Amino acid sequence: MLLQSGQVVVVATGNAGKVKEFAHAFAELGMEVRSLRDYEGLPEIVEDGDTFQANARKKAKIIGDALGLPVLADDSGLCVDALGGAPGVYSARYAGEDATDADNNAKLLRELKKLAGAAGDIPASEAHGVVLFGGARFKCALALYDPESGTFIDAEGAVEGRVLSSPRGEGGFGYDPLFWLPELGRAMAELTTEEKQAISHRGAALRELLAALRQKA
Ligand code: IMP
Repeated sequence: MLLQSGQVVVVATGNAGKVKEFAHAFAELGMEVRSLRDYEGLPEIVEDGDTFQANARKKAKIIGDALGLPVLADDSGLCVDALGGAPGVYSARYAGEDATDADNNAKLLRELKKLAGAAGDIPASEAHGVVLFGGARFKCALALYDPESGTFIDAEGAVEGRVLSSPRGEGGFGYDPLFWLPELGRAMAELTTEEKQAISHRGAALRELLAALRQKA
């Protein structure tokens, strides 16, 4: 068993939003999370994979081999139907290499509004008093790498929603203020960490990963 109560889990990310969600999830299992923010001199990772899973495996392996410890990596992003699945694996750098969440959200709205204005072919609709663009989903791939055996355990999760025409809510990170959950009638950024964990792509992938680990134990 690679992850058990009392153990430290190293998560190969420096993204504060992800670290907060993982820390919350693993605290419930009696584990402490460390991230790239807790170490110095680790190798740079170029996320050049075509898929979320390839990038997650790459991050987990590079950091796991460098630390000599089991490492969990997450690669995730938003896939918007009207944009042919973009920003996808480029979600973190959609508006450029050093883009902030605000820059990326602004670019997403610019691109969707351009399309809606040009062709009127994005079915913008109204619900709960908010204007919605077309379908989208958050996807998350997790890879847990064990440097001792050189093996991976993979898991994936997704959550379906729609893109809002203007941001709502203060919680979460990234594209959460623009992601509308039709069943809940709320934006992802309007959920608490617990609520987000219960329905999110990352929560689903983590539950799948933990189930796979239990099977191996
Ligand atoms: P990564 O760190 O290369 O996996 O990039 C992840 C990027 O996808 C983040 O910077 C966000 O822009 C976006 N993203 C991933 N998960 C979430 C989420 O749970 N909420 C909002 N945005 C997310």
